[in-house]
Amino acid sequence: AGTEVATPKRTKEIIAKYGFSFKKSLGQNFLIDQNILNNIVAAAELDETKGALEIGPGIGALTQRLAQAAGKVTAVEIDNRLIPILKDVLAEEAHTTVIHGDVLKLDLKQLFAEQFADVSGVSVVANLPYYVTTPILMKLLEEKLPLEHIVVMIQKEVAERMAAKPGGKEYGSLSVAVQYYCVPKVVCTVPHTVFIPQPNVDSAVIKLSLREKPAVDVPDEDHFFRVVQASFAQRRKTLANNLTAFVGKERREALTEMLLSNDIDPIRRGETLSLVEFARISRSMLEAGW
Ligand code: SAM
Repeated sequence: AGTEVATPKRTKEIIAKYGFSFKKSLGQNFLIDQNILNNIVAAAELDETKGALEIGPGIGALTQRLAQAAGKVTAVEIDNRLIPILKDVLAEEAHTTVIHGDVLKLDLKQLFAEQFADVSGVSVVANLPYYVTTPILMKLLEEKLPLEHIVVMIQKEVAERMAAKPGGKEYGSLSVAVQYYCVPKVVCTVPHTVFIPQPNVDSAVIKLSLREKPAVDVPDEDHFFRVVQASFAQRRKTLANNLTAFVGKERREALTEMLLSNDIDPIRRGETLSLVEFARISRSMLEAGW
């Protein structure tokens, strides 16, 4: 394998050699720390029978490590200026494919069929571009791709929201969506000094382990998520008020009764409700035809 990319010296050399200039609009902050890479790769539980999908390989700091840990690595990079650099940096790595494209526009089912037919499981491992973290993760989850783990570096506050339990101010519709599909765990927090250039926010590595089936059984996922969104629409309002706005004023009384019959106090706030409680509400609302 080639020399480690993720050191300040080597990263600066590569950038100078190719005359690369960072695009802030693409969330380009390259990792230059070996320990953080060790933590990310270890959390992904890879071996030679497993595949890794990397989103945004940059100049290949993580890609190189994944190539050593997994049986197949596929990396999707949007910036065409990085494609020749990646080709050079990864020249000695076997079973590694770089695809030029926007992960949000790619047909990932097809990509999985083409790239990962021969592995026993696939995980997403990435240092994500922060401007599109949530759309990327929601795409991965909603398309129900056959994933084992998603281990990603993201903005620290977003990681905290994903892993938040009911009752605190971090808990919201993102927490519910992530925890519906996955078991989240914050692996480590990361100072901004381990990137070139340094981002102006703190970061964290989060591991999302995909559940075999969703955390709660709901008759209609779309409806469940709409109820969750509505419950958090105005965070300082009670559940009864937020849900009345969703079902219509004329149903206020019936809604209150429905909540009470589900053992849910209508004056609670959305942020105190568990996934099980949201699922109960969604089911009852559907039964009432709301
Ligand atoms: N993996 C590298 C590292 O850790 O040093 C680079 C990480 S950097 C935070 C994010 C990378 O994602 C950049 O290389 C950027 O060009 C790429 N990127 C941004 N938006 C993307 C998209 N929609 N699809 C694929 N790659 C994207």
